[in-house]
Amino acid sequence: MILRITNKCTMGCSHCFIDNASPTGSHMDESTFIECLCFAKKCQAKSLIISGGEPFEHPKLFDFLRLAMNAGFPAIIVATNGTFASNENLYNQATNPEFNNVMFQVTNDSRFYPQNVNSIKSKFEGKKWFFIQRIQKIHRCNRTEKNKIITDPPTSTCCNIRSIFNEVKKLDVAIQILENVLQKFCKPSINTDGSIAVGEKDTCFKIGHVSDDIERIEAMLHAMQCDNCNISIQESRRYHAK
Ligand code: SF4
Ligand code: SF4
Repeated sequence: MILRITNKCTMGCSHCFIDNASPTGSHMDESTFIECLCFAKKCQAKSLIISGGEPFEHPKLFDFLRLAMNAGFPAIIVATNGTFASNENLYNQATNPEFNNVMFQVTNDSRFYPQNVNSIKSKFEGKKWFFIQRIQKIHRCNRTEKNKIITDPPTSTCCNIRSIFNEVKKLDVAIQILENVLQKFCKPSINTDGSIAVGEKDTCFKIGHVSDDIERIEAMLHAMQCDNCNISIQESRRYHAK
């Protein structure tokens, strides 16, 4: 499950999924974050990806990580562009042994990220870091279309969860299959206001709010018709079947 704790980011990447990621982006508040943790527990999610925007822009990132650790999630991953490591205070907090069980995934592909972190790459050595220097898959979204970036594969990011949910009819079972069988940890995606989307883009259809009953969310997921990606579920499934 992705928790987008902020829309703030100063990077302005041409390939960003989040069209409203900007230097003035808003933050998730603490009560919404706690509701997210309760929702993730109800869905029996094991993995949380703390994302944004740039999560290190959130003034309560480390408080949120403590809340998630105390709630007992086995895997907590922070997805960052890595620029925080130039800030000694933030870097020292991230490397504090208190956060030894949190993984920091640093993605900074110089084809798309205007500010690269190559000069501080040595800061990301060791088992708590996962450094991605070349993105393998870029999905079609607002910015990639506007910036004419070639996307691959031709699939919508909601395909797996929608297909599996339509088979099993239960959100918790679908999430367990995604995590345990397909090793996919990024669905659903929760926005800064607590709204729930089945894909990771701003344009994704919202199936409810983390404070809603699971049955209501499941009914919305069952009824959803979104094809804003202009890629049919059948076309996406054909890709995933390869
Ligand atoms: S660093 Fe991440 S959130 Fe910020 S613009 Fe780039 S892809 Fe988007
Ligand atoms: S925009 Fe619609 S079709 Fe595309 S990934 Fe999101 S929910 Fe799926």
